[in-house]
Amino acid sequence: MKKISVIVPCYNEQEALPFFYKEITRIADMMNENEFEFLFVNDGSKDNTLNILRDLSKKDSRVRYISFSRNFGKEAGMYAGLENSTGDYVAIMDADMQDPPEMLPEMLKALEQEGYDCAATRRTNRKGEPPIRSFFARCFYRLINKMTTVEIVDGARDFRLMTRKMVNAVLSLKEYNRFSKGIFSWVGFKTKWLEYVNRERVAGETKWSFWKLFLYSIEGIIAFTTAPLAIASVVGFIMFVLSIVYAIFIVVKTLIWGDPATGFPTLVCIMVFIGGIQLLVMGILGQYLAKAYLETKSRPIYIIKETEKNNSNDNDYI
Ligand code: UDP
Ligand code: MG
Repeated sequence: MKKISVIVPCYNEQEALPFFYKEITRIADMMNENEFEFLFVNDGSKDNTLNILRDLSKKDSRVRYISFSRNFGKEAGMYAGLENSTGDYVAIMDADMQDPPEMLPEMLKALEQEGYDCAATRRTNRKGEPPIRSFFARCFYRLINKMTTVEIVDGARDFRLMTRKMVNAVLSLKEYNRFSKGIFSWVGFKTKWLEYVNRERVAGETKWSFWKLFLYSIEGIIAFTTAPLAIASVVGFIMFVLSIVYAIFIVVKTLIWGDPATGFPTLVCIMVFIGGIQLLVMGILGQYLAKAYLETKSRPIYIIKETEKNNSNDNDYI
């Protein structure tokens, strides 16, 4: 009997969790040829999430949980889940039911009968999302796919079912700045894409502000491509060529017409322009340097405070 681990990162999900638990157990009961493990990762919630998880784990032996010492972000939550899961197949799913649990049987079929290593999902539309957010999301996917050879699929969710082999591959990438959409694609393996129409979350509200998403997208670009550095070098080179052409032009102009004192506004414009480009390039360099700095510190990706086996509050650091 194959075991399926369902990893659920939760951050302030007290409203959604009861719905989610009801639905996932319904699906698990339907798929009775498989053993299940529900591994909830409490990502430093400030509401009642941890208490709900404690209760669920007492009631249902399939429920396990990991509780972080603070909020480490969804990426850390997913990594912790993958690292602590024990199943032959591992699924990652949001707690808000935007990732429909009823797709699990179809995903399992792709792995068991169709020879795939991973069944991933993408939404075909972005209904219920602010239009400006969708617009920037589209721009981001277009941009990142131009700059990197790793394919980042537009509309791809983190919702997926993977074989143990693929999970181990994902876990072997131990970087601190994690961008899972890229990591899942980078490790390779055969992935089947299942599509579904976007759903709105069942309760509670989204944890992603526009600003958070923006920073996450920069993270993605920096983690998966050094193209901005190359662009910076090219821009520098073009500026260099232009400046030589312009210098020649000025010399020739002065020789023919004399009049060396005019052109002050031009000078100011050029100075501001070059100053701007220099700052931009330094900013790009700085971003890469900052990420490299964080990586070299090699801090743990997450810190566990409590699990279902150890909820007496004696700290269990990893
Ligand atoms: N989440 C998390 N840590 C965070 C933010 C979010 O574990 O810092 C979880 C959240 O509980 C949910 C999932 O990640 O299960 C997706 O979050 P959300 O629904 O807010 O994102 P959206 O679906 O709006 O992109
Ligand atoms: Mg959601």
